[in-house]
Amino acid sequence: MKNGLRKRAVRSKECWNSAEKEVTMYSFRKKYQVLIVGCGVAGLYCALNLPENTDILMVTKDSAEKSDSFLAQGGICVLKNKEDFSSYYEDTMRAGHYENNPDSVTQMIENSPEIIRDLVGYGVEFAKDEEGHFRYTREGGHSSPRILFHDDVTGKEITSKLLSAVRKKKNIHIAEFTELVDLIAEGNECFGGVLRDVQTGKLQTVYADHTLLASGGVGGLYENSTNYRHLTGDALAIAMKNGVAVEHLDYVQIHPTTFYSEKHGRRFLISESVRGEGAVLYGKDGKRFCNELLPRDIVTSEIHAQMKKDGMKHVWLDMRPIGEKTIKEHFPTIYKHCLDEGFDVLKEPIPVVPAQHYFMGGIKVDGRGRTSMKRLYSAGETACNGVHGKNRLASNSLLESLVWAKEAAFCMQEESEPIQKFPEKDFKNYENYQLLKETYAKAIREEAEKEAYVD
Ligand SMILES: Cc1cc2nc3c(=O)[nH]c(=O)nc-3n(C[C@H](O)[C@H](O)[C@H](O)COP(=O)(O)OP(=O)(O)OC[C@H]3O[C@@H](n4cnc5c(N)ncnc54)[C@H](O)[C@@H]3O)c2cc1C
Repeated sequence: MKNGLRKRAVRSKECWNSAEKEVTMYSFRKKYQVLIVGCGVAGLYCALNLPENTDILMVTKDSAEKSDSFLAQGGICVLKNKEDFSSYYEDTMRAGHYENNPDSVTQMIENSPEIIRDLVGYGVEFAKDEEGHFRYTREGGHSSPRILFHDDVTGKEITSKLLSAVRKKKNIHIAEFTELVDLIAEGNECFGGVLRDVQTGKLQTVYADHTLLASGGVGGLYENSTNYRHLTGDALAIAMKNGVAVEHLDYVQIHPTTFYSEKHGRRFLISESVRGEGAVLYGKDGKRFCNELLPRDIVTSEIHAQMKKDGMKHVWLDMRPIGEKTIKEHFPTIYKHCLDEGFDVLKEPIPVVPAQHYFMGGIKVDGRGRTSMKRLYSAGETACNGVHGKNRLASNSLLESLVWAKEAAFCMQEESEPIQKFPEKDFKNYENYQLLKETYAKAIREEAEKEAYVD
């Protein structure tokens, strides 16, 4: 019994007619104290901040390693000293067009040193100089370097360490390939969720005293996105369906620089910190056309304008000014990916194009991760606490996810009264899975359009 979860392995012939693969089917207990939807940094960190006697079920639509948290390249921001507070605050507000919630910005920045200490406690390693002090890098919109990093795979370093800590806890059960398709809600109170086994289509209800929606962004709804394809904003649509307040669904961030490719699938990100370290953008005439260190939305619109002017599907990014040593030490994954695509960044510029990257809107939460529905919480990219305003400052999202996940865990402990009701759900509503997914995607698009119109 791995992780204490009752698990039954069956031969695929029962479930998948053709293949000889082994499929794992989970059978859950009827009730857990906490149900966490999503195994990215937000879900994992919430679980780790709950007491060890809390009975927790974590579900994820894909394998536990397939979350955007694993993909984060650039790094994680931190308040490196008290003197930097006002500058960090101002950079975050300016990038967000001053539509940010000032209390949320303060909360995130003030909590950042503690979050970094926690991460180091879980074994996360950030780049250091010869004397053992943290090294800081810089990205667009930051007026000084304040971003901690681990090569160009900071997200993998953080998330893999948190996942391994979670896997060691006997009270936390992870069910992979298990998808939330609806909440169990009555009278503006949440009692758990309806779960679907992705491999077999089997539906089950799981009741919980507290439910956390930490299911990431909406990139899977876009043709060109840096996000995993399975991140389709499900929790958002489910929240809306159940009358939970959401906001700013039209606040979607486009990243200025992803590797240009004719192939279908997820777009490979060329981290903003390459520009922070000196990389420059060129048009087709080989000339610079903008300040590469402006906030993302501004650089994106400059690139789009240049593409239009040039009649090209991309612009060029030249990493050579960074120098071979830094490229190989700081950006080994980007270096290798470009080589695999036939471009040597040490010798030539690479083609880049903007693509959907991040979602600033989401399920409306307060400073403690509480939604408008009792017993329902949200953290990470799915949630909107207003910290990013209209446009996220680079490397603020891992930090934000961790701050609110921890806060939600504390809040659940304070409001620990168990549920008394176990409302039934009619599974007929979820049997046509394709239709359900189309309905959810349509609801998100319509709401986003409505909000854009009002803005
Ligand atoms: C390429 C890339 C680079 C980035 N670089 C940085 C960076 O350098 N710094 C930074 O701060 N941020 C960066 N970001 C953003 C950051 O990685 C994410 O915003 C953050 O990791 C979100 O964490 P999360 O826990 O909210 O969601 P995710 O890590 O996306 O996890 C979502 C989880 O929810 C699960 N899920 C989704 N729907 C369902 C469902 N219906 N049922 C069950 N499970 C479900 C998924 O399977 C997954 O486990 C980057 C993002 C990308 C894509």
